[in-house]
Amino acid sequence: MKYICVYCGSRPGNDAVYVEAARCLAASMVRRNLGLVYGGASIGVMGAVADEVLRLGGSAVGVIPESLMTQEVAHSGLTELLVTSGMHERKTLMADRADGFVALPGGLGTLEEIFEILTWAQLRFHAKPCGLLNVNGYFDHLIAFLDHAVDQQFVSPAHRDYLRVGETPDSLLDELALG
Ligand code: AMP
Repeated sequence: MKYICVYCGSRPGNDAVYVEAARCLAASMVRRNLGLVYGGASIGVMGAVADEVLRLGGSAVGVIPESLMTQEVAHSGLTELLVTSGMHERKTLMADRADGFVALPGGLGTLEEIFEILTWAQLRFHAKPCGLLNVNGYFDHLIAFLDHAVDQQFVSPAHRDYLRVGETPDSLLDELALG
């Protein structure tokens, strides 16, 4: 079974559309027999994607640092919950277990995680596909900024293209050639 690492908010956002999109992504993944790797929390968009994968009979693997177990309310019903000693180990394990990466709307943690994995692609530490699910235009300004960074020649067009963007889960997973 292939796994997708999903980075997303520990909060639900201010519109039900975000949690709904997380459920739609979960359903597309289960239909394609793709397992979930994520940060292991039961709250926010993170909890919604895991709950839906599990409800549909899919596989959901959480990876959480011991110090965040209570703060982020670790999910108690996962297929597998891996507890790490720190954040770096968590991120490395998530990346190692995944065959591709998708970011849903989220906050600073989500942004840091997807950009870190993009920089690892840029450095050729991995060659796994990376994408943004642009729910409700949430990432429009970020995408425009990346194009500005290319325009100003701080990011090469080839590296910019490592980040694929989809408006729906199925179009994004097709674009990433996953499932
Ligand atoms: P957020 O998008 O800020 O709601 O956070 C989503 C996930 O990112 C949570 O599992 C956080 O533990 C994780 N996270 C938060 N801050 C960081 C960070 N500095 N580096 C990596 N992950 C983080």
